Amino acid sequence: VEVPWVSIEMLPQYVGKKVEIRGWLANKRSSGKIAFLILRDGTGFLQATAFAGEHFDSEEVKNLKRIPLESSLIVQGRVKEEKRAIGGYELELEKVEIISEAEDYPIQKKEHSIEFLMENRHLWLRSRKQNAILRVRNQVIMAIHHFFQERGFTLIDPPILTPAACEGTTTLFALDYFDLGKAYLSQSGQLYMEAACMAFGKVYCLAPTFRAEKSKTRRHLTEFWMVEPEVAFYNWEDNMELQEEFVSFVVQTVLEKCPRELEVLERDLKPLERVVPPFPRISYDEALRILNRKGFRIEWGNDFGGDEETAISEEFDRPVFIHHYPKKVKAFYMQPDPENPELVLNDDLIAPEGYGEIIGGSERIHDLNLLKERIKEHHLPEEVFDWYLDLRRFGSCPHSGFGLGVERTVAWICGIHHIREAIPFPRQIYRLYP
Ligand code: ATP
Ligand code: MG
Ligand code: MG
Ligand code: MG
Repeated sequence: VEVPWVSIEMLPQYVGKKVEIRGWLANKRSSGKIAFLILRDGTGFLQATAFAGEHFDSEEVKNLKRIPLESSLIVQGRVKEEKRAIGGYELELEKVEIISEAEDYPIQKKEHSIEFLMENRHLWLRSRKQNAILRVRNQVIMAIHHFFQERGFTLIDPPILTPAACEGTTTLFALDYFDLGKAYLSQSGQLYMEAACMAFGKVYCLAPTFRAEKSKTRRHLTEFWMVEPEVAFYNWEDNMELQEEFVSFVVQTVLEKCPRELEVLERDLKPLERVVPPFPRISYDEALRILNRKGFRIEWGNDFGGDEETAISEEFDRPVFIHHYPKKVKAFYMQPDPENPELVLNDDLIAPEGYGEIIGGSERIHDLNLLKERIKEHHLPEEVFDWYLDLRRFGSCPHSGFGLGVERTVAWICGIHHIREAIPFPRQIYRLYP
């Protein structure tokens, strides 16, 4: 009979059966006459054992103990439950085939410097923790699509090469674009999503965005992924409701689909379990009062940075909306508050546990003249926004949307300190390799 090739995560279905595993030697130890090989195949980690007897002689067991770490292997054996082993199962080896013997693997110590690990990101991805983080990321992305597709949103892809800034000119990546002068890497797909929502009603995109962030914080990358829904006829409050449902759905999906990954990450689940609507809502002015009470000295009219966001999040046990920011710290396209034109109908969603802003959202200006005025105030070139103004000339309507940073969300859900581990190959001001 043929022995089935199965993945490690499927082993619970094969207890007592003979299976084939194709993977790599992640770790090993020996105890007397037994060789313990820790295998990984991308879906999990598995302890495999060999001893002299029916299937191996003692020389062969010795040789198994000498297989270099990260060699690729195809093995066969019988599955049994073993509570004490990694993942709860064990393979009693009957056959081991070395596909490629690895050279001396560079990541062998218990502790390596973060610089060293980042320089070897292509190999570091194989570690148990990095595997868990990126498998959570995978589920976050699946949950994003699931949520919007179930609610009748259409996925519309924005361009990455664009003719103008969207979120401010200081963080633009520029490149030469044939005879047309400069092109810029997209900072946000939003303006295009606004066009799309006038064509399709409810739309979203999930796309890479680029910002030449000059500061080195644990929350900023120069290349990151953003999900950006945009809905015609939604006001800023409809928008916040959509955000809290969406974020809750993503978190609850990860709790359901990734229990083993969260365990590897030693994530405290209680704060995640609390992520259900409704989220508390405070105005910018209230946030300022909280900050001043906590000893911050921030004048009205300034944006909050990471430290301020962390301080605010400490006051709440779930994500918190801050709405009605001063218009002068926010982007040109945000709808002014009819009650106070110095404020805008926007919200930032601040994650709990000090993870900072994960969403920026707003109602967009739908009046042509007001939008023209704001473009002038921001010294933006009106020509390149002519198409955008068309959206206010032909069937304009109130509409709202938001952008959620995928890596910030993954870092928060995983409970990891730095955003650089929440993306397979991070790009930062000082990092472009590998
Ligand atoms: P911040 O205030 O933290 O710099 P922002 O207000 O500039 O963020 P937005 O333009 O509102 O960011 O973008 C929407 C979301 O994209 C943010 O809430 C955040 O989750 C994410 N984001 C923004 N900039 C970055 C970055 N450099 N790296 C990773 N994620 C980012
Ligand atoms: Mg920013
Ligand atoms: Mg911000
Ligand atoms: Mg923002």
